[in-house]
Amino acid sequence: MARQDYLIALGSNMRHALYGSPRALIAAALKALDNANCQVVTVARVIETPPLGPSRRRYANAAAIVRTDREPDAMLRELQAIEHRFGRRRTGKAWSARTLDLDIVLWSGGAWAHDDGESSLVIPHPFFRERAFVLGPAATIAGRWRDPLSGLTVRHLLARLTKPPPAPR
Ligand code: ADP
Ligand code: MG
Repeated sequence: MARQDYLIALGSNMRHALYGSPRALIAAALKALDNANCQVVTVARVIETPPLGPSRRRYANAAAIVRTDREPDAMLRELQAIEHRFGRRRTGKAWSARTLDLDIVLWSGGAWAHDDGESSLVIPHPFFRERAFVLGPAATIAGRWRDPLSGLTVRHLLARLTKPPPAPR
């Protein structure tokens, strides 16, 4: 497959025995992602956000643009291998504490959906339009990337999400 650009969202909300803080873990994961087959082209500054849901830990989030020949399924496998290497445990609970979460938000090839019953991959990521912790970092490095489904740029999606509600009359 020809060269592709992926917008990757990184998140962590757990200290790691070896790497330390979520922020340090994200830095280490980015290093692991940058290898012979994958170049990390641009990285957003790590932001820290209060947790959603019952977990009481703070989240660290970042985004990166990655250039690679990998097609989307192979890219997801690579991300899952890194999650695994950094000690992520799948507990089945969507909001449980996790050492590392790596998601594909957008890629240069447009929309993609694959589900073989065992694993599924949907690009654009189904929830990224509602997640400020994804859109915030993403807007700083990929503000002009367009969501192929809504036609809106990442910057526009962030503005839409964070704009204050209309004043009551
Ligand atoms: P989440 O990222 O939503 O908090 P998980 O990381 O546990 O939760 O992801 C659950 C599943 O989502 C993965 O097994 C993967 O197959 C699937 N998935 C679907 N689309 C994507 C995507 N764009 N990026 C990453 N994972 C995805
Ligand atoms: Mg994930």
